Amino acid sequence: MLINADQLTSFATDVFLAAGAPDENARLVAEHLVEANLKGHDSHGVGMIPAYVNNILTGLLKPDARANVVSDKGAVLVVDGQFGFGQVVGRQATALGIARARELGVACVGSRNNHHLGRIGAYGEQCAAAGMVSVHFVNVVGHDPQVSPWGGRERRMTTNPFCAVVPRPGTWPIVLDMATSAIALGKVRVAHNKGVDVPAGALVDHEGKPTTSPKVMFSEPFGSLGPFGEHKGYGLAVLCELLGGGLAGEWTAQPENLRSHHIVNHMFMLIVDPAAFGGLEKFQSEVTAMVDYLHSTTPAAGFDKVRIPGEPEQETRARRLVEGIEIDESSWAGIVKAAQRAGLADAASYGS
Ligand code: NAD
Repeated sequence: MLINADQLTSFATDVFLAAGAPDENARLVAEHLVEANLKGHDSHGVGMIPAYVNNILTGLLKPDARANVVSDKGAVLVVDGQFGFGQVVGRQATALGIARARELGVACVGSRNNHHLGRIGAYGEQCAAAGMVSVHFVNVVGHDPQVSPWGGRERRMTTNPFCAVVPRPGTWPIVLDMATSAIALGKVRVAHNKGVDVPAGALVDHEGKPTTSPKVMFSEPFGSLGPFGEHKGYGLAVLCELLGGGLAGEWTAQPENLRSHHIVNHMFMLIVDPAAFGGLEKFQSEVTAMVDYLHSTTPAAGFDKVRIPGEPEQETRARRLVEGIEIDESSWAGIVKAAQRAGLADAASYGS
């Protein structure tokens, strides 16, 4: 079905309110999820509602938790999300880091114990809106791993996202925001719900043989997702695990740590005020000139144009704001069921 972004936001807000979230938190989470749908990342959009509702009802996700500063060493802050909505406590940790970077020129924030942070680009965009450059290394724990290391067959990590953002004067920022697995697990879930295959090269079955069937991630015998970019993507995933999980969160995917049905994200953030380098205008003019130079490249065969990171999301957003957001039947049925579980009795009438 096709649904307009405002209607979807108000529906998602109602679901989180029914599940016991305070007004502001319900709205923030709903806006974050719908923004992910608008930007084309349905894997991190309202399709996460069933998992969030389940985790609220089982006590794993604390819908009213706030971020708590546990250590403040000037340029280095450690902030505990206390298993609140990542979209709320991660945002609060990012705001603290931005304020500190404005004061000192740089801030390094360990944002730990967040429930799912969703689309990591949101925190980068928050930094860019304040004129900051930022880098984010995130690990994902609390459940069994899904991603095999390069050259390995068994699952050892998760889809550990990496993000880096550069603001641009007067326009949207450059946003590199990606899972370090060949594709995001949520995209495998969306393909599974739609009953379609995933692109070749992303999955292996339980024997380590390549497959395009998303089933291997959801039913036994389990296969695994591989890293993107062979050994290079794997290397970046390891850094997300060690900086996000080891340093910021003190909780990596190694088997002695808790694995239940939780979704916990730890994020290592480096936030830099480009003005502290002393040449803000020159930096901005170099960014603009370089982006123009990249855009002027003649497209290769099979491509319509050369884009910069973050541009596909801007294009999809512009289109979906006009055309609406497409949600497949199976995902919508799961969302409505979760909404009813949360206590939204008339959930089935939304979107009809
Ligand atoms: P993707 O592969 O769609 O895009 C990755 C990056 O490549 C983006 O920055 C995009 O702008 C850029 N890009 C894509 N096509 C391009 C082109 N033609 N030219 C230039 N740049 C281009 O993203 P993904 O790896 O599927 O990740 C999806 C989302 O999942 C991200 O928002 C990520 O933060 C999120 N995620 C979250 C978690 C979590 O636990 N919170 C885990 C994994 C992923």
